[in-house]
Amino acid sequence: MPEILIGVGSNIGDRTEWIKGSLHRIRDDGKIQLWRNSHLRLYPPLGGMKQREFLNGVFVGYTPLMPLSLLEYLKKVERQFCRRPTYKWGPRTLDLDILFYGKSVLTLPRLCVPHRSFLKREFALELAAEVCPRLKHPVVGRTCQELWREFAEKKHHNSPPASPGWPR
Ligand code: AMP
Repeated sequence: MPEILIGVGSNIGDRTEWIKGSLHRIRDDGKIQLWRNSHLRLYPPLGGMKQREFLNGVFVGYTPLMPLSLLEYLKKVERQFCRRPTYKWGPRTLDLDILFYGKSVLTLPRLCVPHRSFLKREFALELAAEVCPRLKHPVVGRTCQELWREFAEKKHHNSPPASPGWPR
């Protein structure tokens, strides 16, 4: 069975409950064998719109589902957890993204794996480095740990230096 990496996020209502509830549902449905999950952490929303922070996590599992069936299944779980259509990067009770599907590289109208934004999203890189540091991105061929280190270094270099001169 292919090893899959799934990203999960929520920024409406009780974010922890939505995420933990969905993981219980996924485990009970038996379509994905959950193997490891990251901590849940808060991250700023993407897209610069004013909205609540996202609580995010990542989990590793195994599934007999083919990629599009897995996408359908995750969309169904999102709907069961009150996900309603909004705008791109809009608020949501539950977001489930396929980050990796084994070593597959797919560019289909409804599904891209690895996820298009994996290399740009802090939460995905940081939490993937936590749960599967040695797993390699099938396109760029670097491990999740290497990718996260690079991202964190760039972020550090781009952040403004601490100013010693603030008035007291
Ligand atoms: P989202 O707003 O994250 O729920 O995703 C919007 C759409 O992106 C979905 O309806 C999918 O058809 C599409 N999509 C493309 N690649 C992926 C992926 N790797 N995981 C989840 N959704 C994807």
